[in-house]
Amino acid sequence: MTQRKKWTAYRINKDFVRNNKKRELAKLAAFLLTDGGLSRDKRTYVIYFTNKSEVLHEVFESLIRDLVPQANMRSSMYKGVKRTYFNSLELAELLFELSDSYRTAPCESYPVCAKIRDKPEMIPCIKCNQIRGYPNATYPEISDLELLEEILQIIADTEGGPVLFIHRYPKYISIRRRIEIGCSHPILKKQIKQMLEKLAIPSKIAKDTIRIEGKGIRIFRDKIGFRKNVKMSTGNFEGYNKNSVLEIMIITNELITKKKFFPSKVDNLNAMLMKAVELFDNTFSRERVVEFLVNGG
Ligand SMILES: [Zn+2]
Repeated sequence: MTQRKKWTAYRINKDFVRNNKKRELAKLAAFLLTDGGLSRDKRTYVIYFTNKSEVLHEVFESLIRDLVPQANMRSSMYKGVKRTYFNSLELAELLFELSDSYRTAPCESYPVCAKIRDKPEMIPCIKCNQIRGYPNATYPEISDLELLEEILQIIADTEGGPVLFIHRYPKYISIRRRIEIGCSHPILKKQIKQMLEKLAIPSKIAKDTIRIEGKGIRIFRDKIGFRKNVKMSTGNFEGYNKNSVLEIMIITNELITKKKFFPSKVDNLNAMLMKAVELFDNTFSRERVVEFLVNGG
């Protein structure tokens, strides 16, 4: 097959996709602005997604199938993490109508922005419309609340997770909880906060993360949550479902408020929380998990 043929093999009708696949394009943009990207490859673009979660790769692939049915998708390991990728110039052109760039790191950080690679005279990058060193990148404007929930779930699944840790004070122990979404890009970070606001989820920006705490955690669970079987990729709870950790955060908070659970009376609080998450992962009912926490096993 000649190169030319390879590119034309999966032509898409841009007008049709632009007008009829707005939701899918917006969701794809969310994947690319988090753990994915677009990079120039000769006369076409490579569109890729890199993440440890098999479930998320399946979602990404089905989204691509919907937009470019004939896409020749491939996968490889990139620094020990699975990457799914394919080429499409036309889809890339449509995506650039939504965001000037899909690069979420500063132009000068590794790997250096392609536009200034080997051109030190162009540093700081004058090719990208930069904001504090970052190329201009934006999430699509979304008014449909249901779509907004889906977009935020993609962002939370890829860049976010529940954070549950034990804080020891001299006289007592407390459990700290929050949901954190990592993002260093100045525009995207603000947009995530605004999108959460539209769903009445309070959050605050702390350096390179967006934090949801207190009452916001429950609203997040009810309106967004994490996709089923998306797992924690780091930390104490690595390998467990993000939703299980989220639920244990909510349950422990409820029980402490109702004075049914006293963290400082538990010998090994860490092990107990871990066990509670594990029970949840193994599809034990919420009642069983509550019982376990209240009765200490
Ligand atoms: Zn640049």
